[in-house]
Amino acid sequence: MFTSLAGRAVVVTGGTRGIGKGIASVFARNGARVLITGRDSDVARAAAEELSADGAEVSFIQTDVSSREDCRRMAANAIERLGGIDVLCANAGVFPDSLLADMTEDLLDQVLGTNLKGTVFSVQACLDALKRSGRGRVILTSSITGPITGYPGWTGYGASKAGQLGFMRTAAIELAPSRITVNAVLPGNIVTEGLADLGEEYAASMAASIPLRRLGSVDDIGYAALFLATEEAGYITGQTIVVDGGQVLPETLEAVLEVKGSG
Ligand code: NAP
Repeated sequence: MFTSLAGRAVVVTGGTRGIGKGIASVFARNGARVLITGRDSDVARAAAEELSADGAEVSFIQTDVSSREDCRRMAANAIERLGGIDVLCANAGVFPDSLLADMTEDLLDQVLGTNLKGTVFSVQACLDALKRSGRGRVILTSSITGPITGYPGWTGYGASKAGQLGFMRTAAIELAPSRITVNAVLPGNIVTEGLADLGEEYAASMAASIPLRRLGSVDDIGYAALFLATEEAGYITGQTIVVDGGQVLPETLEAVLEVKGSG
């Protein structure tokens, strides 16, 4: 049995939809007090209401993580509402696609500004509060795309997700004396509202290339993040957990198809 996280003050950037909302939900269901952020305040308000329907403590603040000033406001708001910050889940991200030959400077600025600079700004803004916590945890949502795999159209995105891990390794060393751990979850293909819109056929074709034969759920990512926030994970820092149903394992598609039906 893991030590309860009840009462912990948790900030989840990009917690208004998709994976971040799943992370927020898992923490809230385990008794944490959660602040979620996103740029669209209507969506954020609706998500906070939904997540607190069963009596959980979930609030929101409108924040654009690519703005350092917004991140400072987010941290100040968390301290005011929650009395501090024990856990920061730096999850907000965008994934615009563009082939390298066509990539504009604007697109590159957008993806690096949100995914990479946004991660750095969020952690910087929460740093003092995480230090005061005495058991601060930073959990980044990276991806298999970039750190492990590649996909046409995602050179910029892959660079941002791999960049988060470069940041993580040095941040983990710098923050260790303050008893703050910094780790990352690397999701594979996760079912979110956006993916659901692409239809069942598309989802089924993606699932066929995954050894565990299903796409991931937002809860799958939430539970990996929750584990990294526990007391029991306190000696793990600067590390990654791949949560992808084994998607990165097969050398070829045949390696997956070969065992179809044998299990
Ligand atoms: P999503 O459904 O599009 O949700 C993204 C969240 O981030 C929303 O809450 C969005 O709210 C927020 N956000 C985006 N830009 C922001 C900004 N500049 N400032 C503040 N909030 C911002 O995406 P998702 O699929 O859940 O992805 C979440 C994270 O998981 C990303 O870091 C992504 O790279 C990673 N990931 C996803 C998958 C997958 O299969 N879904 C796989 C691997 C990694 P607003 O739009 O209102 O700002």
